[in-house]
Amino acid sequence: MIDSSTKMLGVIGDPIGHSLSPIMHNFVIEKLGLNYCYHAFHVTPEDLEDSVFSFNLLKFKGINVTLPHKQTIMSYVDEISEEAKQLGAVNTLLFKDDKLFGYNTDVIGFLKSLGEFRQSLRGKTAIVIGAGGSARAVIYALIKDGIGEIKIFNRTQHNADKLKIEMNNITSFNKINSISFSTDFFTDEIQNASILINTTPVGMYPEVNASPINYEIEIPKQILVYNLIYNPLETKLLINAKQAGAPIKNGLDMLIFQGLESLQIWTGENINTKDILPELRNFLIKKIEKNGQN
Ligand code: NAP
Repeated sequence: MIDSSTKMLGVIGDPIGHSLSPIMHNFVIEKLGLNYCYHAFHVTPEDLEDSVFSFNLLKFKGINVTLPHKQTIMSYVDEISEEAKQLGAVNTLLFKDDKLFGYNTDVIGFLKSLGEFRQSLRGKTAIVIGAGGSARAVIYALIKDGIGEIKIFNRTQHNADKLKIEMNNITSFNKINSISFSTDFFTDEIQNASILINTTPVGMYPEVNASPINYEIEIPKQILVYNLIYNPLETKLLINAKQAGAPIKNGLDMLIFQGLESLQIWTGENINTKDILPELRNFLIKKIEKNGQN
């Protein structure tokens, strides 16, 4: 039951209408019996500063920050975690002791989502398609977790080159290559990689027939094909990979784990989510399948 002691949480973005965060967080809050409530707020770039002021005034405990505010929000934060500083992106705000703290939970969210595959990827080669904000978090996470080599393929070569240099500067990891996105190069590189991660929106609902890689490319059985997209749960890329016999993973667990990590920051508690995880996944899968049909 919500009363005056209930602590307020939320997510800001522009647009924000399709965010799954409110239903996800409120599900967890209810299951764990926490005295919190989570809402979505449409905040435009012009209103960002005022919104931070208002959340503080209204005694909000925490806010998730999504596109397009993950970088600009940093100028309103008092203390930024080392990881978020290095990445140049904040997705979680904590109001505490009259100060505003900023964190990035995408990195740990991605690593936790790898589950049983995580250990076996150390020292191996990863292919990352895309060079935007999520590619940045994924590459940073892979480097911190001991990946051997990273190959970036992106529509705009210049953006891949830029990301390669930036990640090298931030982490001192020098085994990153940005490779021209031609079918020939890609076909060669995919044979020696252990994980392929799509970080582009290609294949996302409603463009469900699109794939970030050419349909002719043969996907080897040994590669984990991971798509950050979770709507649809099985994109064209994942369907093709599954048909080729490769293990697949969609972006739902990353969404869940980054969210749970934020909740831990806000509550200051080590939340044991093991028991509710299967139920939470099923709940979100049903919502996504329903939304996808709209
Ligand atoms: P972003 O910063 O805008 O980057 C998008 C990247 O995709 C850029 O490299 C862009 O290439 C490329 N791209 C966009 N449209 C393309 C197209 N039609 N063909 C080929 N390449 C294209 O976006 P983002 O924040 O990284 O998010 C990307 C995706 O990841 C979204 O679908 C988002 O929903 C998903 N995501 C999921 C999670 C999760 O928790 N599961 C978390 C974050 C993001 P150029 O450089 O050429 O423009």
